[in-house]
Amino acid sequence: MKLVLASSNAGKLVELRDLLGDGFDLHVQSEFGVADAEETGLSFIENAILKARHAARATGLPALGDDSGLCVDALHGAPGLYSARYAGTHGNNEANIDKLLGELDGTDDAQRSARFVCVLALVRDADDPQPLIAEGVWHGRILRERRGSGGFGYDPVFFSPTHSCSAAELPAEVKNRDSHRGLALAKLRSSLQA
Ligand code: IMP
Repeated sequence: MKLVLASSNAGKLVELRDLLGDGFDLHVQSEFGVADAEETGLSFIENAILKARHAARATGLPALGDDSGLCVDALHGAPGLYSARYAGTHGNNEANIDKLLGELDGTDDAQRSARFVCVLALVRDADDPQPLIAEGVWHGRILRERRGSGGFGYDPVFFSPTHSCSAAELPAEVKNRDSHRGLALAKLRSSLQA
């Protein structure tokens, strides 16, 4: 099955190709000259679907959209949809972490619960009334300072109780398997095989 990934991120392409296996011929949307969709949704699900529809409409192929981020309970779910640009500039991980730690200054450990969320949406065509949805959630809490050097984004301040370390201290293969993205991908793969 030829499938467009509604992203220009080559890293995601490699990870998804590995996880989806042989039955899928996956291409990033930039290969077809498709620009990123505007993320105007109010939820991860809405954004994943609108990204997938945008790619399907532009290419005429089935498409997979994804959206992810970090939700902190004490901040009413922020940074949420704005995780990549929490501190203003898109993708400035260090500034985003500094802002998050500042917002949680004075918040005790019991109130620092958080979760990473990833939603994948697969549409057969741009107007598909029944997108296939897979959601992965990874529960943890926000540390008071950075730990570890792996991963990306908020990983150094996300403590995973099941692993007893930060996401940035996990070997990549463990993070890829157990993270919100790993869980969403596993669900998607089993839905596709069902
Ligand atoms: P996107 O879904 O690729 O747009 O990611 C949104 C943002 O959420 C990223 O830029 C990161 O700030 C954050 N994020 C999503 N997944 C992770 C993760 O696995 N580790 C750390 N940060 C993440």
